[in-house]
Amino acid sequence: MTKMLLVSAGILFVLVAVLTLLSALSFRQFSIYTAERHARSVAEAIKVGLTESMINGTIGKRQQFLARLAGVPGVNQVRVTRSPAVISQFGPGLPGEATTKEDVKSVLATGREVFELVDADGTLVFHAVIPYVASDQGLPNCLQCHAVTAGTVLGAVTVDIPFAEVRRQGAIAVVMISAAVLIAALIALAVARRMMNPLSQTAHTVREVTSRAVGGDFSGRVRRHSSDEVGEIAVNINRLMEFLEREVNTIRTRVGQLMDHRAKEGGNQLAHTTELVESLVEVSQFKQAIEGDQTKREIYQRLADTLQGKYHFKRFSIYEVAPSKNRMTAISIDGEAGATCRHCDPEVMIDAGSCRARRTGHEVNAVEFPGLCTMFRAAAAGDTHICLPINQSGTTSCVVQIVVGGVEAPLAAEMVPFIGVYLREAGPVLEAKRLMEHLRENALRDPLTGLYNRRFLEDYVGALVSSSQRRKSPFSVLMLDLDFFKQVNDTHGHEAGDKVIKTMADLLVRSLRASDMAVRYGGEEFLLVLTDTSAETALTVAEKIRAEIEATKIPLPGGILCKTISIGVSEFPTDADTFWQVVKYADVALYKAKSGGRNRVVRFVPQMWDAEGSY
Ligand code: GH3
Ligand code: MG
Ligand code: MG
Repeated sequence: MTKMLLVSAGILFVLVAVLTLLSALSFRQFSIYTAERHARSVAEAIKVGLTESMINGTIGKRQQFLARLAGVPGVNQVRVTRSPAVISQFGPGLPGEATTKEDVKSVLATGREVFELVDADGTLVFHAVIPYVASDQGLPNCLQCHAVTAGTVLGAVTVDIPFAEVRRQGAIAVVMISAAVLIAALIALAVARRMMNPLSQTAHTVREVTSRAVGGDFSGRVRRHSSDEVGEIAVNINRLMEFLEREVNTIRTRVGQLMDHRAKEGGNQLAHTTELVESLVEVSQFKQAIEGDQTKREIYQRLADTLQGKYHFKRFSIYEVAPSKNRMTAISIDGEAGATCRHCDPEVMIDAGSCRARRTGHEVNAVEFPGLCTMFRAAAAGDTHICLPINQSGTTSCVVQIVVGGVEAPLAAEMVPFIGVYLREAGPVLEAKRLMEHLRENALRDPLTGLYNRRFLEDYVGALVSSSQRRKSPFSVLMLDLDFFKQVNDTHGHEAGDKVIKTMADLLVRSLRASDMAVRYGGEEFLLVLTDTSAETALTVAEKIRAEIEATKIPLPGGILCKTISIGVSEFPTDADTFWQVVKYADVALYKAKSGGRNRVVRFVPQMWDAEGSY
């Protein structure tokens, strides 16, 4: 706006200057033109006067006439000069009438007038030299007295007209005109400035308000200075700012509520809000992803990936709290699945109550309250931690621990609300998965012994057989049945029978490797799968089991009980190429063990099947 005014002022001043120059020039032109006419009139008057003097015979007194004429105001000097033609006819005349001046000589020679401004002794003078040319027109005419042809130059009159005053007056006029125009221009500028003031002020504040809005601050308003279009711009900008301020605030608050996050004051509100919305979208994508996950382990992995990938935490722990047991398991330590607890006293594993987050179910923020949890083990000075529990159905099912160095700590603390949202979303899904895994586990296990049941065996067969085939490694099947078990029930009661079954199952589990599997196949029948084991080795294992059972003394209310067991052994794929056929052959071998006197181990041989026909 100021620039516009400056440009206008510049243009106006140039105009004033041009106008001044033009008026000075025109005034000069006009003055010269007037002076020329004036000089011609004087010359003509002299000619008339001299002609009259000649007719009246007073030409001899022409000097007085010229002297009087020179005294007329507006005429400085008058001098008549004879041309060579007149001199030759009438003589040189009075002194001074035969000129020696160059300009006069030139006029006499060419017949062309000369007008010029000259400085005569310090004063400006309009100097005119006008020729008298002989004419044969009129009465009397020149040729009546002069013995020349028409067109001959008879003489010249030199007239000097004072010009300084004319110039002074002209200068005064030009100065006055310029002053008037300048004043008019200044007034016009002042008026324009006054009229442009609201526009300039509005433009200034609009610029300020909008640049603040670009930075996410919509609190600026524009003052209305006029009720024209400029005023309307102010009103509309204010409406826009109010709208943006209100809406962004609402979105920010709502999103903040969703994320349980207090909106930050100051800064770029729009950028904060966008950040929150983006986080929400990411959380929603995370939720969709974990809902599609099959196991808790996949969810924990995704949580670890989020902590590493999105929040760039390098050190963190994810602990799972065993339901109804006071234990915790390290699920992921620094993104490493199954690693041992690294940032806490290992005590928390066996006594989950010593974990503050687990015990209280609240965030443990050692960044804000240093030394809050005594179980934290810092690797370096300045290390601190934030532990966030996942609470579900009133209990803490999981604890996420973030470990940060001193400088990263404040930033990590700021991230807590965002991570909290992920954990809140993960909680119910983890709980559902936990429940499902629990149900599935129950459905596949026998409640009395804790061994797998037949259903599990059915599910497991496919993987077992294909693994064995792929690795070209046999496995053995052991079919076990307690001898004369009915007697236990009959003599000691069903409860004692159960105890015996449980004792035997525990013994079996203890005898097996982790890769082997024990199944409660029937009432007091068990099936063992010994992976990567030939029948030969299996016979040894079976014999060991048999001997141990025989040696086991089971205390019952009615006294000590000793039981024996019969075992049939077969091998996959040596005996048969389907699992169930191998089971069948183990059963055949068991039958042989029973019929052979019980308390023994029998390896299946094909003859057993053939000899018995269908059995
Ligand atoms: P053997 O095997 O030596 O031929 O004689 P046995 O007396 O053990 O005969 P069998 O294996 O046919 O008997 C199984 C008995 O086990 C029948 C049933 O009374 C008993 N039983 C099956 N399941 C359970 C159970 O869960 N608890 C108890 N207490 N007894 C069971
Ligand atoms: Mg039986
Ligand atoms: Mg039996």
